[in-house]
Amino acid sequence: MTSHTLNELIAEGVRGRYILVRSDLNVPLDGSTVTDDGRIKASLPVIEKLSDAGARVLVTAHLGRPKGAPEAKYSLKPAVARLAELAPFKVRLAEDTVGDSAKELAGSLDDGDVLVLENVRFDARETSKDDAERGAFADELVALTGDNGAFVDDAFGAVHRKHASVYDVATRLPSYQGDLVHTEVEVLRKLTTDTQRPYVVVLGGSKVSDKLAVIDNLLGKADTILVGGGMLFTFLAASGYKVAGSLLEADQIPVVQDYLKRASDAGTAFVVPTDVVVASRFAADAEHEVVAADAIEDSSFGAAGIGLDIGPVSAAAFAEQIKAAKTVFWNGPMGVFEFEAFSAGTRAIAQALTETPAFTVVGGGDSAAAVRTLGFEDSQFGHISTGGGASLEYLEGKDLPGLSVLDR
Ligand code: ADP
Ligand code: MG
Repeated sequence: MTSHTLNELIAEGVRGRYILVRSDLNVPLDGSTVTDDGRIKASLPVIEKLSDAGARVLVTAHLGRPKGAPEAKYSLKPAVARLAELAPFKVRLAEDTVGDSAKELAGSLDDGDVLVLENVRFDARETSKDDAERGAFADELVALTGDNGAFVDDAFGAVHRKHASVYDVATRLPSYQGDLVHTEVEVLRKLTTDTQRPYVVVLGGSKVSDKLAVIDNLLGKADTILVGGGMLFTFLAASGYKVAGSLLEADQIPVVQDYLKRASDAGTAFVVPTDVVVASRFAADAEHEVVAADAIEDSSFGAAGIGLDIGPVSAAAFAEQIKAAKTVFWNGPMGVFEFEAFSAGTRAIAQALTETPAFTVVGGGDSAAAVRTLGFEDSQFGHISTGGGASLEYLEGKDLPGLSVLDR
């Protein structure tokens, strides 16, 4: 598996050439305010390298899940405004993706200028299952680059998608791996081959069904899987405990039971919390108390209680495991960290990751946002992945179309 790198492209010479760059600018927004600019900051270096080398840079990106037509709330405007604040080069945003505005502004670029095209998902062909439809859209994107263009994929968060701006353009232009994609792949490789042991995986987040495939692939690879977040209740239920009103995916209980059964043979230990924080309702100011994980229904809230965080004893035990590890991968918050009262478990895990001598990787959009909103710095972790779904699919052992299309 080798791909041509951005440095190779720069060495070939890019001055005056139109270089199409797929970036990941899919940032969380509150109205028109970017609440976490991590992905913008992570996308900046590649765009800047190309601009510095004199390329005319055309950036494609998606934001949110528009339904194949323009929708103001999914405009890249706020993301591009933030990019422009951070960038030492000139950045403009086209009003469309491959329409008149994109064509006109692309035509007016000087060497070193950067034009971001509007949300690629404003065009239904971007995500079409029909190869010809996607291909036609890719042709229009490629046409913007003239006759000496090239493509750089730097959107790690989208490499698991067989989309026009990720996959089909790469079959039409000389294509290169951006530095961000390169780094992400190197890091994820360390989590799958020759991993330094003990290898501890911390899994949380909302749904166990999102994470089942990765758990399956980690059996036998990870030494320990620490289970928190909403999914812990399906694990508790799989062991026969009652979880009151907590998030439960009853249909997944047999699958989890199968994992628990296979785990010891595979050499992987699951660690499920022994205490949880149970609340009277799902709200920031809900009443709450700590109870034993096998006695959730015995809280003052009875059958109405909902578990919203791991308890302090479990958080401390998880932290010990993390500190004794050589490799740690963390995906998914331990509790509803968006509410201060239920953020302690997530905070304890983040803290332990900053204190362990292990190589640490944080994956998942909400997990990355959590460490930042809880006041941690990116530099305190080995690596914060920009790709939630993409990093999980890589760890599931799946073929990622956006990566394999760059292989030659
Ligand atoms: P990531 O994006 O990092 O992969 P997920 O999307 O799987 O993470 O899950 C993140 C969400 O899980 C957060 O919004 C958090 O509030 C929620 N969550 C965590 N613990 C619980 C819980 N006990 N009950 C309900 N939701 C939870
Ligand atoms: Mg998420």
